[in-house]
Amino acid sequence: TTKLMEGKRGLVMGLANDKSIAWGIAKNCADQGAELAFSYQGEQLKKRVQPLAAQLGSDIVLECDVAQEDSIDALFADLSARWDKLDFIVHAIGFSDKNELRGRYVDTSRANFLMSMDISVYSFTAVVQRAARMMTGGGSCLTLTYYGAERVMPHYNVMGVAKAALEASVRYLAEDLGKDGIRVNAISAGPIKTLAASGIGDFRYIMKWNELNSPLRRNVTQDEVGKSALYLLSDLGSAVTGETHHVDAGYHVVGMKAVDAPDI
Ligand code: NAD
Repeated sequence: TTKLMEGKRGLVMGLANDKSIAWGIAKNCADQGAELAFSYQGEQLKKRVQPLAAQLGSDIVLECDVAQEDSIDALFADLSARWDKLDFIVHAIGFSDKNELRGRYVDTSRANFLMSMDISVYSFTAVVQRAARMMTGGGSCLTLTYYGAERVMPHYNVMGVAKAALEASVRYLAEDLGKDGIRVNAISAGPIKTLAASGIGDFRYIMKWNELNSPLRRNVTQDEVGKSALYLLSDLGSAVTGETHHVDAGYHVVGMKAVDAPDI
């Protein structure tokens, strides 16, 4: 039997360590036969990302700070020198000052608002713009979002506003690139303990709340996000674009959970 991602080449951005959502996605893609390249932010992460990439048979590990246009250009120049075409990208990147991921949204500063939008929203468009030029046989682009885009969640604040803009950009990119056979989607993942998540206030409480109130009565794993990503990145999802797909144990459909006990 042929594997789902056999013959496909993909760039994974946002791998920091083996707790990253990017790792769950990369492992599933590699298991299904994909050939992978990775980008990391800053020299410090290089020694962490290189061995992880090697575990999945990849020696293409390139630096990219998505806040810098020339850094994104350099990434795609290097990638084009290695590969003549690209089939998919995974954008698992987000950032905000953690001092503003607690307390009230109304207190957000202009500087952090602009930085959060730049790194967490515009960077996806900037990357897709360049990736599309290499996707000569069509392609699939995936980013990561969170329910805080749709409903108010404690402490998510400016990231909620950024994720709403990210989800809107997924829809606009899908329309622009559909004619070229390039699909653009997002996965809205339930809360998962990662480096980025540790910056969010009361994160343990948020995890517990989701566990108790989601239809499946549990949280989700990096691997489960990876399995769902396979559907969107492979030909299984060939008619799916512009979509925000929830991988959250069903949390987003709940208005109010039924009382499990017979009387309240
Ligand atoms: P993570 O800390 O493992 O990954 C975040 C990555 O963003 C890191 O690799 C970091 O280096 C990268 N990054 C930040 N600023 C960058 C920059 N300027 N240039 C290049 N890279 C930069 O955490 P994660 O939870 O795996 O986050 C991945 C994505 O998933 C993020 O978009 C996050 O918002 C989203 N997400 C996370 C959760 C969760 O609960 N963990 C839930 C839903 C969505």
